[in-house]
Amino acid sequence: MLSVCAEEARVEAELVGGLLSCPSCRGVLGPWGRARERVLRCSWGDRLLRPRRARCRGCLGTHVLLPDLCLLRRQDEVSVIGQAIEAKVAGVAYRRIAVRLGVHADTVRGWLRRFCERAGVVRAHFTRWAVALDPEIGPMLPAGSGIADALEAIAVAVRAWVLRFGPGDPWRIACRLSGGGLLATRAPA
Ligand SMILES: [Zn+2]
Repeated sequence: MLSVCAEEARVEAELVGGLLSCPSCRGVLGPWGRARERVLRCSWGDRLLRPRRARCRGCLGTHVLLPDLCLLRRQDEVSVIGQAIEAKVAGVAYRRIAVRLGVHADTVRGWLRRFCERAGVVRAHFTRWAVALDPEIGPMLPAGSGIADALEAIAVAVRAWVLRFGPGDPWRIACRLSGGGLLATRAPA
């Protein structure tokens, strides 16, 4: 799995041009059909996606090119999940967050529980990204809790990315930097 820009035409051009590299061996990826269709629940309504699939010319492994709107195995758009995380760090209860976002309370609780469990891993991952993107970056100050520290690390890494590559949606950048694995069961790739 590879988290890529949500602009299909751009991904297609990169794929055909041999500009995408294999997440396993860094070999060149080429087009390899499409993955199964899936529905993504977005803030503006449902969106039907049929992600591109790519095959590595080196190790012959196949990878789904998941648009950076989606997190691995999550049905909701990353910015909706991100808003829930921000609200949780601000002290809002999950039931209120669920009402505000129009998402089932159990779903919101599941995201937040996973984010809490992974807070340390997420913080370390995004801190590494922040330093990789901006070696001059200063030390990150404790934000008051595990999840607040994790959110702060995401914000710092995203800021460093924007300064280097230009503006973009913060949670989509965070999604790409986590390889889509922000709320996954294993460490982000
Ligand atoms: Zn490969």
